[in-house]
Amino acid sequence: KEVNINTLINSVVLNFELRVKSKNGELTSDLKADPAIIKADEVHLTNVLFNLLDNAVKYSKDEPRIHISTETKDDFVVLSVKDHGIGIQSEHVGQIFERFYRVPTGNVHDVKGFGLGLSYVKIIVDAHKGKIKVESAPNKGTKFMIYFPINTEDHGKKSKIAIGRG
Ligand code: ATP
Ligand code: MG
Repeated sequence: KEVNINTLINSVVLNFELRVKSKNGELTSDLKADPAIIKADEVHLTNVLFNLLDNAVKYSKDEPRIHISTETKDDFVVLSVKDHGIGIQSEHVGQIFERFYRVPTGNVHDVKGFGLGLSYVKIIVDAHKGKIKVESAPNKGTKFMIYFPINTEDHGKKSKIAIGRG
């Protein structure tokens, strides 16, 4: 099915804003992807966003400041979720998508979790033929970027029509 990722994000943001505001944080967005239509499962895509936002809140020490953005890059729609939280040390970044993996933080940042959220995210991204990248710096924050291929079949159709007319 085809999903407008910007529209989907707007509704997720409306839902999630309450949680962020209850922690005196802020959730901002800048949705520039155009076209924003991707082939995706709406339910799974919503869950992916919730998982990334849940982490962004959980792994922020004080008021969570989260920014969601979309843009079009080459043949991809790029979705980014950026936080200013505790970050991840580079030696652990390679493992966070493994099932049950949680970065050991001792009692410095004691939050509950099973270590399953990101393994689910990875499975869903793979199922959409997408890619996920992470940029993170300890005590500065983390940015997750998901690359979704733009529905190229549509572009093919459009150009054929254009050629036919010419
Ligand atoms: P669950 O999502 O199952 O409730 P979880 O949040 O611990 O538990 P994942 O979402 O899979 O599990 O994340 C794995 C680990 O990666 C986390 O335990 C945490 O150490 C680290 N991590 C994930 N997102 C962030 C983030 N935004 N900032 C800092 N660390 C993160
Ligand atoms: Mg999680």
